[in-house]
Amino acid sequence: MKRRDFLASGAGLGVAALSGCTTTSGFASPPATGEALVQPIGAPMQPIISSMNRVTRTIVGLRPFRKPGPRLEAVKVGSKNVVHNYGHGGGGVSLSWGVAELAATLAKQSNYDSVAVLGSGVIGLSTATLLQRAGANVTIYAKDFPPNTTSNVAGAMWHPVTLYEGDQVTPETLAMLDLASRIAFNRFIRFANDSKYGVYWIRQYSFSDTPINTDRPYVGGDALYPGLVRNRPGGPFGFAYYDAFYTLMIDPDIYLRALVNDFLAAGGKMREKTFESEADLENLAETNIVNCMGLGSGKVFGDESIVPARGQLSFLLPQSNIEYGYAGSTPEHGLLYSFPRKTGILLGGSVDKGDWSLEPRQDEVRRMVDGHAFLASRLTVKG
Ligand SMILES: Cc1cc2nc3c(=O)[nH]c(=O)nc-3n(C[C@H](O)[C@H](O)[C@H](O)COP(=O)(O)OP(=O)(O)OC[C@H]3O[C@@H](n4cnc5c(N)ncnc54)[C@H](O)[C@@H]3O)c2cc1C
Repeated sequence: MKRRDFLASGAGLGVAALSGCTTTSGFASPPATGEALVQPIGAPMQPIISSMNRVTRTIVGLRPFRKPGPRLEAVKVGSKNVVHNYGHGGGGVSLSWGVAELAATLAKQSNYDSVAVLGSGVIGLSTATLLQRAGANVTIYAKDFPPNTTSNVAGAMWHPVTLYEGDQVTPETLAMLDLASRIAFNRFIRFANDSKYGVYWIRQYSFSDTPINTDRPYVGGDALYPGLVRNRPGGPFGFAYYDAFYTLMIDPDIYLRALVNDFLAAGGKMREKTFESEADLENLAETNIVNCMGLGSGKVFGDESIVPARGQLSFLLPQSNIEYGYAGSTPEHGLLYSFPRKTGILLGGSVDKGDWSLEPRQDEVRRMVDGHAFLASRLTVKG
């Protein structure tokens, strides 16, 4: 992805170019507390060990990026009542419980004894779960189920970003995203440090060599980002400015497995089915349908505003001493981000709009491994 797109798409990470200077200015270094599951924002950090011989796997996913932002609305399609809930770009995991609640509220305006949810990624599973809890008999129909969904490829850090093109989003959609973010965050927080769901706290940095724009709060409001500091001078990687906050990491393989198990245990049904066009909806027994088919919605419902935003991730062998993530852009290595998972250190940094390829690219693996090694070598406050 071009840096300009990343900023214009509501990324909010304030990344910018790297000058090459190293500074610790403005970045305090209190001692690490040892017992804390997540260290103070300014505490020393261990470098990640990024080398090709520590790469365990590389995966690719296509974010369902919709230029005007996610679609959340109730429409009539033939004889069916359809609520659309798709197009969550790079923030679908983060937004999931929020948009699920808003979509469920729309679905409950019709008779909802029996509901079909199309799609079994994080959006479909969350929506199905909430409708089920409201008393509906829910069947999920999908082409693929976890672990074979885009949602399983997500990072996934709780930070709704890359959600829309700045010149195409409406104020109503921005307000919806703020509301959905607040609902979602407050649900996710209940899973924190519950190993069944794979959700845990991290500290997160973004860095820049130009001042970080603070005109707008982060999506959902700054209160959703505990410990938030913005546009501070210095920072751990020696850039001119940084933002930092605490947030939640969601390990999608663990999390989605738990959602599937919860849904099935509560009597939910799952059926394999591929929809080619909206006419196929007439074959469903249910009159009330929630469409959560992500990128697949484009073809089925003729929505040309949704495009893939390809992302490739590589994983390094795990390091127990890494409990921080970061994101930023460097002139030498481009966009880079890393999140700590219990199962491995995630290396990312690609958001390629319009690219449908699911094949891992070896040159990208090398760029990320080298780029993250470069950032690790710049750490100014090593533990
Ligand atoms: C590399 C990468 C990193 C990411 N990082 C983050 C992150 O840090 N934080 C975050 O919040 N989000 C992140 N995301 C974004 C997140 O993954 C998506 O926004 C989210 O997974 C979308 O969920 P979904 O349920 O709409 O789509 P999906 O997971 O794609 O699920 C769609 C479902 O619909 C089904 N389907 C599609 N078409 C059809 C059809 N024609 N017929 C029947 N079924 C169909 C599929 O089989 C699947 O079950 C990332 C994504 C990628 C690729």
